[in-house]
Amino acid sequence: MESSIRPAFSLRSFSFETIEAGILVDHPQFRRRAPGTARFLRQAAPAFFREISKDYSREILASDFTPQPKLWKAEGLHAAWLGHTTVLLKVDGFTILTDPVFSTRVGVAVGPLIVGIKRLVDVALDREDLPPIDLILLSHAHMDHFDLASLRTLESPTTQIVTAAYTSDLLRVRRYAHVHEVRWNDSVTVGPAKIKAFQVQHWGARMRGDTYRGYNGYLIEIGQRRIVFGGDTAYTEVFKSIKSSQPVDLAIMPIGAYDPWIRVHCNPEQAVQMAGHAGAEFILPVHHQTFQLSREPKFEPVERALAAVGSATERICLRSIGQEFHL
Ligand SMILES: [Zn+2]
Ligand SMILES: [Zn+2]
Repeated sequence: MESSIRPAFSLRSFSFETIEAGILVDHPQFRRRAPGTARFLRQAAPAFFREISKDYSREILASDFTPQPKLWKAEGLHAAWLGHTTVLLKVDGFTILTDPVFSTRVGVAVGPLIVGIKRLVDVALDREDLPPIDLILLSHAHMDHFDLASLRTLESPTTQIVTAAYTSDLLRVRRYAHVHEVRWNDSVTVGPAKIKAFQVQHWGARMRGDTYRGYNGYLIEIGQRRIVFGGDTAYTEVFKSIKSSQPVDLAIMPIGAYDPWIRVHCNPEQAVQMAGHAGAEFILPVHHQTFQLSREPKFEPVERALAAVGSATERICLRSIGQEFHL
């Protein structure tokens, strides 16, 4: 009995649901394979804890590149991929950090421990080496995007946060200059930046019952620069609504965690297509290589993204964690 359950119960197959929303027991595989969830968990426990201990002893790889934001000029558009969906942006001197995750492990706090999944590759820049951040942009409250431990270290009276509807209760809001909750199609101005939220194809629940939480993509406008931050999304036509006479300089697009989660995560071809819908010239792929959330091999998303742009491979402007892009 136990051996027939074990193959379905590996970190590879279950981790996405636990981290993306903590809905461990709501996974279809659980329902299909175990009419009694408690009985199933009891039977699967030995295999589960073997996987956990293997994961604890696994070493985290260093990133191949280390960005040098101290050398970035005030003018122009500068970006560095720090890992997963964390991007450091500096646009005409204004500094933005998207979905900051600096923790080794993301998941649920149980006492002093975090029960969740561990990075494959270390964050490319230590928290201490970050420049002062003017704005933190949070797409949604899933644990691989909205990491409370990282956000606490970023608390500052000079930093503002823009986040999705009904998510600011997770933050210690008084420790930032301002926390703005933004609903779909609403805009907010933060310093020189105009931030407009748009609806992506995803969901917002962090735990099982909090389905009221929002989930956003963002259009960032600073001076003549326009940047799209796609957040976490499956394929959606909504990116067409972003296209205007003004070009989009850069689209930060998720490209991983699609196998088998294609209903909530786009594949690389769809990410390229959506960036095209928005009229984006350059694509900065995120949400890959950092956490094993799904079944596709680690480098498949970036290889497929490169194939999807044909001979224009320079459009995929970053490929490895820690690389920088300048425009
Ligand atoms: Zn998500
Ligand atoms: Zn995610």
